[in-house]
Parts: sequence; C-alpha cells; structure tokens
Amino acid sequence: MSDCIFCKIATHELNAQIVYEDDEFLAFRDIKPVAPVHVLLIPKTHLDSLLDAGAQQAGLVARLLLTATKVARQLGVAEEGFRTVINTRDNGGQTVHHLHLHLMGGRFMTWPPG
Ligand code: AMP
Repeated sequence: MSDCIFCKIATHELNAQIVYEDDEFLAFRDIKPVAPVHVLLIPKTHLDSLLDAGAQQAGLVARLLLTATKVARQLGVAEEGFRTVINTRDNGGQTVHHLHLHLMGGRFMTWPPG
C-alpha cells in the first residue's frame, strides 16, 4: 500500500535498521525498543493484520513463525528465550496496519502483559 510505512521499509524507500531479509520477509529494529532485542518481522506483501491472512496465506503465516525463530537464533536470544507478539486491531494494541510480529528478547518477560 502506498501510504504504509512498513511497505516503504520493505521496499527500502524508508530507512530502518534491517537485521534480516529474504524474498518474502524483512526484520528491522523497533524504533522504540522495549527490550534489549526488539525487532519487527514483516511480510513484504501487505496484509493489514493477522485477520487478513486466510487459507491462501497459510504458508506465509507458518514461514513467518519459522523465520522468527531463525532471526531469534541469529540475534543470539534463542538460547535464553524470547517473546513473539502479534498485536491485532485496536484492542490488541495494533498501531501500524501492516502485519508484523514483535520479537523481543535479552531480558526476562513478565506475564500477563499490560
Ligand atoms: P504495533 O503497536 O504492534 O502496531 O507495533 C508497531 C511498532 O512499530 C511499535 O513498536 C513502533 O515503535 C514501531 N515503529 C513504528 N514506526 C517505525 C519505524 N519507522 N521503524 C521502526 N519501528 C517502527
């Protein structure tokens, strides 16, 4: 989508601290990190939210999770553990309407979230 900031990051039109990229996904550091490691993993294809992933995107959703574990290993947080979060729509706390997975690590995460 032309006015989507994450689409612009995906096409390198906007700068981001990219930590991982392949044909389908991009991971970059969150601009307001809440953990020593906090990256956002996005599909390059625009989907507003997880709700817009249907059966056609089953493979993409599976690869999104597998790629998150790959990036977690790459960033050195796999051994001690990490948290993955997908915020969806208003009550989920979603502020950027391009499907993204938060990958956070490097500190102990409490539960439940606020
Ligand atoms: P959410 O609230 O789940 O939609 O998460 C959106 C996340 O995107 C927030 O944690 C923001 O800090 C982050 N964010 C927004 N704009 C940028 C940007 N240009 N580069 C990196 N992270 C961003």
